[in-house]
Amino acid sequence: MELNEIWEHRIKDSGADFVYFVDITMLPADITEGCSCAVLFGKTLSREYISTLKAGQEPKRKEVFNTEHKMDALAVKLADWLETEGYKSIAKLKMGSLSHKTVALRAGLGFIGKNNLLVTSQYGCALMMGKVLTTAPFITMSEMPKEPQCGDCNICVDVCPNKALLGKTWSVTTTRDEIMVRKLCILCLKCMVWCPYTAEYIK
Ligand code: SF4
Ligand code: SF4
Repeated sequence: MELNEIWEHRIKDSGADFVYFVDITMLPADITEGCSCAVLFGKTLSREYISTLKAGQEPKRKEVFNTEHKMDALAVKLADWLETEGYKSIAKLKMGSLSHKTVALRAGLGFIGKNNLLVTSQYGCALMMGKVLTTAPFITMSEMPKEPQCGDCNICVDVCPNKALLGKTWSVTTTRDEIMVRKLCILCLKCMVWCPYTAEYIK
């Protein structure tokens, strides 16, 4: 088995639904810290959870928080495993100079929507991600960021109870502040669950 396949199995056995090995050699050294690959992985949120939120009910479990926590823990574990194999590896949690979304765009996983979330064709916005930067010699990929596929849709902007979303269509030069007013966001997740791409996923 190739290195990618071995580690993909290992990562999926530890709870991830998808894994990508992304080339990061084009990024500045202060961001990559000498690593050539970002191992990006993630887990989808359950259809039941999204449906419960969409129905305006309080879900029994805090699935977003729990899944995010699991992906962070998996990043730490994966970095440890790779270090043990002799490869410099750094678990990169959500905040930091290289966002999960930036790597996901290079993986061709989706586009950035007007809700400032990664929107995928398979899972809509219903996923949480984690990543590790590493020197391990994985075969890597690097896609051009996908153009947003929101079109005339404005659902997330309209359902946001606090007017945190500004309706801006993302491009490579767009900043987060042009898309949303972060301090107005109350993390209600309406922009995630009402996105038509997420609706398609839970069908
Ligand atoms: S999570 Fe809620 S408050 Fe935050 S941007 Fe989305 S809809 Fe608006
Ligand atoms: S709800 Fe519509 S506008 Fe918002 S991210 Fe989804 S497709 Fe784009």
